[in-house]
Amino acid sequence: MAANPLPTPESHSLKLKELSLDNLARLVGASVVRRNGDAYLANQSEIDLYRSDPYLEATRALPIVICRACGQICIVITTNHLRRHNLSRETYGDDQHWPGAPLISSVYRKVRSDAGVLRWTPERKNGQSSKMTDHWAGLTPEELRPMDHKFQRRIEYSRRKTGDQ
Ligand SMILES: [Zn+2]
Repeated sequence: MAANPLPTPESHSLKLKELSLDNLARLVGASVVRRNGDAYLANQSEIDLYRSDPYLEATRALPIVICRACGQICIVITTNHLRRHNLSRETYGDDQHWPGAPLISSVYRKVRSDAGVLRWTPERKNGQSSKMTDHWAGLTPEELRPMDHKFQRRIEYSRRKTGDQ
């Protein structure tokens, strides 16, 4: 098959479990530990930094998100993950916790938008979607909804604004 000039979702994937601890530490710019295969920030002081700044991943241009509750390094902080902390998406972002803290990495965002671009390419038809499903195993459509929701709200807002004029 001819090479696809468009980037495939896989080329943007970041498999945290496959990175060595050293590479992960370099990626995050902080000490990292592994527990049960998952990677976490090693130092509480570093977790505290993230807790005090919802934009730290963006400021540092990191392709990952840090769970403010436990310091885990994630691509997506799932509702399943939040449940471990007795939190939901809503309570995670409420005033008692970490308002504005991201739940989805920039890499994942990119994969999503590329997946949209690639929807009708032969690659896509040849099972790309099942590969994606495998890759993001554990993610439910519910997980994706908040972003769509936000987008929807933006559209509604701009419509309302136009209507006012
Ligand atoms: Zn956590």
